[in-house]
Amino acid sequence: MSPINQNYGFATKAIHAGSAADAVTGAVIPAISLSTTFAQSAPAVPLGVYEYSRSDNPNRNNLETCIAALENGKHCLATSSGSASTALILHSLTKGDHVISIGDVYGGTHRYFTKVANTHGVETSFTNDLFNEFDSLVRPETRLVWIETPSNPTLSVTDIAKVAELVKAVRATGQVIHLVVDNTFLSPYISNPLTLGADIVVHSATKYINGHSDVVLGLIIVNSDELAAKFRFLQNAIGCIPSPFDSWLAHRGVKTLHLRVERASTSALKIARALEKNDKVISVNYPGLESHANHKVTLTQHRNGLGGGMISFRLKGGVAAVNAFSSAAKIFTLAESLGGIESLLEVPAQMTHAGIPQEAREASGVYDDLVRLSVGIEDADDLLKDVEQALDIATAL
Ligand SMILES: *Cc1c(COP(=O)(O)O)cnc(C)c1O
Repeated sequence: MSPINQNYGFATKAIHAGSAADAVTGAVIPAISLSTTFAQSAPAVPLGVYEYSRSDNPNRNNLETCIAALENGKHCLATSSGSASTALILHSLTKGDHVISIGDVYGGTHRYFTKVANTHGVETSFTNDLFNEFDSLVRPETRLVWIETPSNPTLSVTDIAKVAELVKAVRATGQVIHLVVDNTFLSPYISNPLTLGADIVVHSATKYINGHSDVVLGLIIVNSDELAAKFRFLQNAIGCIPSPFDSWLAHRGVKTLHLRVERASTSALKIARALEKNDKVISVNYPGLESHANHKVTLTQHRNGLGGGMISFRLKGGVAAVNAFSSAAKIFTLAESLGGIESLLEVPAQMTHAGIPQEAREASGVYDDLVRLSVGIEDADDLLKDVEQALDIATAL
């Protein structure tokens, strides 16, 4: 582990935290440590700090050191996927415990709450109006409040500090309750929820942190020593660990996170502004636009008011237009996922959110004519032209 000055800026930390030159070979980039076991000099006296690779591994450890620094957190655990991070945290609860979450939480998280955690006796209440319904939803058994901002795919922004106040007020009565923020959509470059009062931050590093659409990996970041010890114990017991190679790739990926997210946000703002002016478009959801309902929160909560790389918009002409748009785009690839260097587009009603009944879907703004864009880091003008030519084709039907 390399000690890193917490006063360094984001980019310096991204490049140097957890990246000390190898003490033996001088290698500037850490080698991939594939060994599953580590030699001991006497029984139970390891030569170094490692014993067995499920418990800890140098590459995983380097990545964790880097991410903890970037999230302004004390501890980080890297897991086998974002979903494994969710499962691990839910495993720390026991029968009878209760969770409060939001109606438009990530589909896989919703599935874990409603199809897995409930079978172990952990119940989740969902709300589309957290601030007004919190008091009526919170119980003596409530252990977690689980939120995501911006939401997917409608990109509504939640004031994290305000939610943290609600949770802290309950904790002040002596109740054990923690606020979890899934920070996947913004990445630690744009937002640091721990600084805003969250207790646990989770990421699907599959998205912006790795950033190259070639690793599935999850992260958990906390300040509490107690929570970290609990999660580490569970991770070792369950075995939901990332491979050394995936840890190494994600660590390499995160070193350019600031450049990628800055570029994606700048291009996304340009595209969102053009969409807003385009008469083929019904409405645009993008936190960086002045017209966004929570633009004020975006300005205070996001680094430099950056809106991130995700946009969604409604297109005139219904499903036929949306399908034509999807096939007409040449640079934006029609695919699920987000946060990679390449631009992607998807149709939530037919793809990521197809499992939600139409009425519930539309209640949270996911209409059949909604398109979601993950803006990559290609040339902004090429991306803009691609969107505009695809809109012309789609609405000429
Ligand atoms: C993708 C995603 C997850 C799940 O992560 P995996 O790495 O795919 O398991 C969780 N939350 C959000 C917001 C995501 O986008």
